[in-house]
Amino acid sequence: MIDTHCHIDEEAFAPDREEVIARQRAEGVAAMIVPGVNVASIESVLDVCHAHPGYCFPALGLHPEDVKENWAEQLDIIERAIRTHREEIVAIGEIGLDYYWDVTYKEAQQEVLRRQLELARELELPVILHNRESTEDIVRILEDAKNKESGAEVTRTLRGVFHCFNGSKETAERILKMGFYLGVGGVLTFKNCKLAETLKELQGKCPMLIERLLLETDAPYMAPVPHRGERNESRLMTHVADKLAEALGVSKEEVIGATTKNAKQLFNLITI
Ligand SMILES: [Zn+2]
Repeated sequence: MIDTHCHIDEEAFAPDREEVIARQRAEGVAAMIVPGVNVASIESVLDVCHAHPGYCFPALGLHPEDVKENWAEQLDIIERAIRTHREEIVAIGEIGLDYYWDVTYKEAQQEVLRRQLELARELELPVILHNRESTEDIVRILEDAKNKESGAEVTRTLRGVFHCFNGSKETAERILKMGFYLGVGGVLTFKNCKLAETLKELQGKCPMLIERLLLETDAPYMAPVPHRGERNESRLMTHVADKLAEALGVSKEEVIGATTKNAKQLFNLITI
């Protein structure tokens, strides 16, 4: 299993980070991607990844919730860090839109997203997208960006993942049509969540769906059932893999095999 979205650099893991990583390695987590969210996380993300080369892979970006008055300055610093560390960074993220808590910086969020998409295209890096209460805008911005690239070489086209996907079948179809992946995490196991149903229906129309799915945790957040409410860890992804296998009607081994392959392909990972 590869955890394509884990904030192992965050404070929640400060007391026992090394034990958590050792435990999950023993339990079959082959690698993890550690996305940054703001200027402060540039250092924490790179530090943990440098301590675990070939196992923890860094992504850097400006998260929409961190888009405030001084966004231009912040973005500048992050862009410089991305260029400096281009060779080791596997994605730009996490970036996107979030209208859930605050829409004060809605326009700025969109501008920050557009600029980071352009950077991703220029540097030929995939993007890790965060989307909350903003599906219409984020899909439209991506579709606009994709429309501009007709005829471009494959490596120069925008690619990426909608992390923590929990949208409708229609949204999923638009995302897949653009060539993007869906990141599946703990939400899938939540009671009353329609995602398993959505994926099952989607697979009926699109049998190759499994080739566009990634496993993730968003740890320390979003722990799957039966650990809901606890601190999440990559090793708990096994519960998501179980549930995904059930939804798609395939074995857990197939889910793990396919999602691992997808992650290596999208992020160009050379794992140890
Ligand atoms: Zn995240």
